[in-house]
Amino acid sequence: MAEITEQQILDALGNVKDPDSGEDIVSGGMVTGIQTKDGHVAFAIEVDPERGAAMEPLRKEAEKTVHALPGVLTATVVLTAERQPGSAAPPPPQSAPAGPGHGPAQGPGQGPAQAGQMIPGVKSIIAVASGKGGVGKSTTAVNLALGIAAAGHKVGLMDADIYGPSMPRMMGITGQPVSDDGKTLQPLENYGVKVMSIGFLVEEDTPMIWRGPMVQSALEQMMRDVNWGDLDVLVVDMPPGTGDAQLTMAQRVPLTGAVIVSTPQDIALLDARKGLNMFRKVDVPVFGIVENMSYFNCPHCGERSEIFAHGGARAEAERLGCDFLGEVPLDIEIRTTSDGGHPITVSQPDGAHAKSYRAIAETVWTKIDQTLAAREAEAPRIVIQ
Ligand code: ADP
Repeated sequence: MAEITEQQILDALGNVKDPDSGEDIVSGGMVTGIQTKDGHVAFAIEVDPERGAAMEPLRKEAEKTVHALPGVLTATVVLTAERQPGSAAPPPPQSAPAGPGHGPAQGPGQGPAQAGQMIPGVKSIIAVASGKGGVGKSTTAVNLALGIAAAGHKVGLMDADIYGPSMPRMMGITGQPVSDDGKTLQPLENYGVKVMSIGFLVEEDTPMIWRGPMVQSALEQMMRDVNWGDLDVLVVDMPPGTGDAQLTMAQRVPLTGAVIVSTPQDIALLDARKGLNMFRKVDVPVFGIVENMSYFNCPHCGERSEIFAHGGARAEAERLGCDFLGEVPLDIEIRTTSDGGHPITVSQPDGAHAKSYRAIAETVWTKIDQTLAAREAEAPRIVIQ
């Protein structure tokens, strides 16, 4: 079936009325960012931040309207709040995504999800974060998730790195999520791990231009409108950096803990420190730091070279009072396996790298367990008099 066009979507949405103004949401300039791929449609409705929660029925109606169109398999609609109603619709954003000055306009409790609300069936959520991009955060998230799964736990992996979603490629998944009930998406699965990524809905090389509130809604819907089933842990590959999007995510997602990935060349690990402080600010326990690309393994002679000041992360972790979770070398096998969709933890499970990742996974799992047990102990008891 031919791909649905943007015009067809707009025509249908022309029948959806904003209950306050009585005007339809297309004429009101509220519909933005329409994306379609293989029958999956996503777009945003811009609303006044004050009206965020009250707009949920409108969001649902828009979603239902588009979902009912022929050839549409799923429709994902997010509410965004950036401009005041009544002003002209903004032109499509051209510049870099959320950063300072693009702070989240949705207040707590607005939008589809409530702050701090757990996902039913998901016992714990951990964030894998880095102070900057390109340090191997996604590679670590994938191998950590697979390492925890290898120990027999039920694991989900959510790609919150919406600026550069790499989970479809790294996990070797090419399909698109389907929705059985028209409300929740089924995550895709490989190597025994359930995966959700915005990359399933748009091409990996499509430049993704997001503004703060849109990022937040998209992330929350990817977490909560996905049928994760029963999970021991949901591993979240965070967007790189420590900007508003990351901070809001750390605040609004009930994280059990965070793992920071860093490379030794950030000698003073200033970026890692920023990540750590961000989680501490919002009272999320930092489980520790993983040093990635710690040293170089020569594929020819097998010699180990300490190209950068190896060990910086261990020393810095000590200084910062958090644990050092382990080190992973710079090794071409790690790159080719993760970029080729066969992460080393599953493709070479008996090798040294898989062993390192499993050891890191075991430490992280112990920390998850301890954190959950401590929380349970702290939970108020009901006293019956
Ligand atoms: P980030 O998520 O921090 O942007 P990625 O995990 O996408 O980083 O890694 C960036 C690139 O570096 C990828 O091509 C990945 O395969 C490669 N890479 C990550 N860790 C290692 C490693 N330990 N050895 C070799 N290559 C690595």
